[in-house]
Amino acid sequence: MEKEIIEKYVKAGLIAKQAREYGVKLIKDGARALDIAEAVERKIRELGGEIAFPTNISINDLAAHYTPIQNDPLIIKNEDYVKLDLGVHIDGYIADTAITIRPAGKDKLIECSEKMLEAGLNAIKPGITLGEIGEIIENIAKQYGFKSIINLSGHGLDKFNLHAGKLVYNVKNNNKYIIKEGEVYAIEPFCTTGAGSVKDSGKALIFKFMKDVPIRNPDARKILELAKTKWFGLPFARRWIKLSTIKKEFLLKQLISMNAIHAYLPLREVSNAPVAQTEHTVIVLEKPIITTI
Ligand code: MN
Ligand code: MN
Repeated sequence: MEKEIIEKYVKAGLIAKQAREYGVKLIKDGARALDIAEAVERKIRELGGEIAFPTNISINDLAAHYTPIQNDPLIIKNEDYVKLDLGVHIDGYIADTAITIRPAGKDKLIECSEKMLEAGLNAIKPGITLGEIGEIIENIAKQYGFKSIINLSGHGLDKFNLHAGKLVYNVKNNNKYIIKEGEVYAIEPFCTTGAGSVKDSGKALIFKFMKDVPIRNPDARKILELAKTKWFGLPFARRWIKLSTIKKEFLLKQLISMNAIHAYLPLREVSNAPVAQTEHTVIVLEKPIITTI
């Protein structure tokens, strides 16, 4: 991998780490999720990064893909498991990182997700298979007596591509794909006290540009244009679209039905049990670089 590209990944990683640490300080009993998401996104910009995807604040049994809407009243409570998941890019080179905070204090579930990630990061190197990584991560959850969520995964990263092909499942699997030097991965184990899988839940708050379509409505054309250029074809938030709620709803539906945009639905643990997640981005080199640590 070229030195210049590594430097961009590293820079994105440092900003992501700083934005995460800043966000963690804001996660308190009584804080508003919307304020935290917006503050984190502002911080990313201030530090010289571009936002790679909407700041996710998924609480308790919501495992992922929740980002506050405009005027979102959601308030954090003392016992909540608050998953802060954020992304930064520099010229398309992405850092993806997440942490779980519980204002009442860290417990075994959170500790488990952190140890799962640590084990995955310690194991990743050129030559290991994706399946082996999954088994190593899952074994930690077993030691703790929790479930590693079966249908959520880490993923490869590429320029302007948040989910580049290869998936890094957090359970034992038969994927024989051999990880190679120069590949970049986000490793993100999720563990739960519940049944151990997630399902779609509620309405989509996060979207992504898919393709241009012939659409007359100027506001719909504007959304597509923003999705492609301002938001780099990377995921964007419902709340970033400055239109009335009714209009927005109508146009997003239309764009989804034309396959112009993809909708990511919030993901909820099937048994409504709490979920903890921890995530870092790693460049796989002879000596891997964890960019967000
Ligand atoms: Mn993430
Ligand atoms: Mn990720």
